[in-house]
Amino acid sequence: MSLWKPVASHKPQARRERQVASLRRFLAEQVLPFHPFYRGLYKERGLKPEHLKSFEDLRSLPLTTKADFLPTDTNPQGYRSFILQPTPELIREHWPKTKLAALLARKVIFGGEAVKEEIKLEYKPVLMTATTGRSAEPVSFLYTKHDIDRLEEAGERLLDIFNITSDDRVVNMFPYAPHLAFWQTALAGLSRGVLVLSTGGGKVMGTAGNIRAIDRMKPSLIIGMPGYTYHLLRAAANEEHDFSSVTKVVLGAEKVTRGLKEKMTSLLKELGSKDPLIFGTYGFTEARMAWGECPAEQGISSGYHTYPDMEIFEVIDPDTGEHVAEGEDGELVYTTLNARGSCVIRYRTGDIARGGIVTNQCPYCGRNVPRISSDITRLSNVKELKSTKIKGTLVNLSSIGEVLSSNKVIDEWQVEIGKRNNDPFDLDELVLNISLQQGTEREFAADRLKEELRLATELAPSRINVLPLNDMLVKLGMETEMKERRIVDNRPNN
Ligand SMILES: [Zn+2]
Repeated sequence: MSLWKPVASHKPQARRERQVASLRRFLAEQVLPFHPFYRGLYKERGLKPEHLKSFEDLRSLPLTTKADFLPTDTNPQGYRSFILQPTPELIREHWPKTKLAALLARKVIFGGEAVKEEIKLEYKPVLMTATTGRSAEPVSFLYTKHDIDRLEEAGERLLDIFNITSDDRVVNMFPYAPHLAFWQTALAGLSRGVLVLSTGGGKVMGTAGNIRAIDRMKPSLIIGMPGYTYHLLRAAANEEHDFSSVTKVVLGAEKVTRGLKEKMTSLLKELGSKDPLIFGTYGFTEARMAWGECPAEQGISSGYHTYPDMEIFEVIDPDTGEHVAEGEDGELVYTTLNARGSCVIRYRTGDIARGGIVTNQCPYCGRNVPRISSDITRLSNVKELKSTKIKGTLVNLSSIGEVLSSNKVIDEWQVEIGKRNNDPFDLDELVLNISLQQGTEREFAADRLKEELRLATELAPSRINVLPLNDMLVKLGMETEMKERRIVDNRPNN
């Protein structure tokens, strides 16, 4: 945390120079010696850390994709080949003389065993989180004690950005799971000395149990997945609970739309909260940490505040792989700095940020760190739909989700993709299941929704089923699944 204040005040040019220097050192002392995947790849291409002189030179390093984590004939170890794996021989061969001399000095003072133990602590994985893809093979990312310290540091910074102090109390509703969101929250509390009650979410304690926990603990902040947190607030409002202590809600693990924030704000006001603030966060398994929005005016996102001493973000044109100009749309590319365990260099996140990254001083909190636009679309949410006999159409399911979750009369929604007539050789069809806010007229709402979707996504669902809320909650698995079933692809091979 001691580094955060100076880091958040660097000017853009100086910041980039520091980042490049830091990457050069990380490549020379950790990645090239100990990283099985990049060691081979960089050697094959004759890439050397000293070639990296400016930010633009990053382009000489090949991009890493999700496919690189899967075992293949040339890389049978898959994601395991992304873990730093030093041996005494590799250390002797690669570390600079000054670093080896320091190691030797410690050996003389503390003894060989102590130094061995120290190195083991630095490099031995102690925690694992995994990607959550339903259809894809899960990919694990490992943390050593060194990375746990980094995760705690990121947690402390997040709480600092949200203006949370050790006097605050937090209820954490992320599921108990090997997922980043849960661990980021739990460790943030530990590192900043904040009391955190982790309920495990709906699946563990049920919604009634979570509401009771909030009633008793009177937290100032609650944190969870957007869909579940909305469900909990709705249930609490229906039973007229008093959540006046809750002034902040942090949402993670999924995109948060402006419309959903507005719906949650009005529920929180019904529950007695005055001027509630709702923050979105962004994170992914491969980064092993998350970033957050700072308090801004209602309806405005400050963007996600990054930690430029712990990573490098680039924005590229997804087709050409070239850098785009500041503030332009593009795919986020992530490089870890000075980490251990599973490390990625120039990893293509598959996340398209509309508005890219900006580096001017944040007008809301004054911090000088690059901020990622919160308007992010995950490329894996873009699916090909064969809706005519002639060709397939690419459909961005995120934008459908945006329309549905922002709509004031829609309470819950689910998108189902299937085959017409249940025939595997027939065309694809898209069906919407929705439940409506009380007092909404069904026909009118369905017609308006069709029109809204057509305008926003050029897509017409084959059917809209209006269901009672309780049936929708069962369909979504709100109380039974780790993550609600928002988009269901029932097509064969999906
Ligand atoms: Zn800010």
